[in-house]
Amino acid sequence: MRDSSSDFFIFIIYSERRVFVRILLQLPEGIKSKALRIVQKLEKEGDEVVVSCSPCYGACDVALEEARRCDADRIIQYGHSEFPVRSSIPVEFVEYRTPVKFRAVLSKAVKELGGYERIGIVTTVQHIGQIGEIKKFLEGKGKKVFIGKHGKKAKYDGQILGCDWGSIKDIENTVDCFIFFGGGVFHALGGALATEKPLLAVDPFSRSVRWMSEERTKELRRRKGALLAAVGAKNFGIICSTKPGQFNFKKALYLKKLLEEGGRKACILVCNELNFESLNNLLEFDCFVNTACPRIAEDYARSRKPILGVDEIKKIIKK
Ligand code: SF4
Repeated sequence: MRDSSSDFFIFIIYSERRVFVRILLQLPEGIKSKALRIVQKLEKEGDEVVVSCSPCYGACDVALEEARRCDADRIIQYGHSEFPVRSSIPVEFVEYRTPVKFRAVLSKAVKELGGYERIGIVTTVQHIGQIGEIKKFLEGKGKKVFIGKHGKKAKYDGQILGCDWGSIKDIENTVDCFIFFGGGVFHALGGALATEKPLLAVDPFSRSVRWMSEERTKELRRRKGALLAAVGAKNFGIICSTKPGQFNFKKALYLKKLLEEGGRKACILVCNELNFESLNNLLEFDCFVNTACPRIAEDYARSRKPILGVDEIKKIIKK
């Protein structure tokens, strides 16, 4: 027989679920400092909020397991635009914009652009709201400005992600060069690698402008080195992340089959977040293949063994 006190307890929990919507809130590092303010706003509206304090690298990084464990009805992720991600719990993406002053830094950029006339602009979702004004400003300086159609993972034309360079690819045959407008090196370098056209990084935070050609050459050289090191590799570890927007298990299985058919040994290595210490303890592997976020390649120096992308490993298999 059930005891009545535990029935009562069950009833309370159940009725709480019916009254409140429980939200798991995810914030990228740059917005975590505002967590409490956002929580209070949501709780005023009657929701119950649990904050994920795990890193949140991108829209792909939906904390589904945390949401399940907390019995959340909804996940709200700040800072990123909508992303094609499979999730059994509804996910709401709340974009975060950072309006910045751009005239002074763009005037510098115009001097750098010299004889280039046809300019493509790309940026991240953080500044996408200003892309129209940036275009007008450059047109006012006599440039022809183009904004490319976004790829499958981005939401806006002109927007780029570390795993979606569609806005560059769409217009690379039309323009003489690109401007990446935004902070940091990651998107600027990724953009430069996605095209053979020169790319000028225009950073409104440091107010600096610089061509990415040198970094591009260095990175290509590094990748070539990794590729050469991997040619003689016999044992391959295929990295597969369980993050909902990065989970490429079928691709990992396919690569394993290809490698084995080519006479190599291959093993799928599954994780949520890649820990380089653990990776480095897998001493029997000569080379790793990354099927997760392409950003992992940025941290190549932390791995003792080369880490290749899927296209790179296919080249080796062909050879
Ligand atoms: S896979 Fe990587 S680059 Fe793409 S959204 Fe996720 S974190 Fe960003």
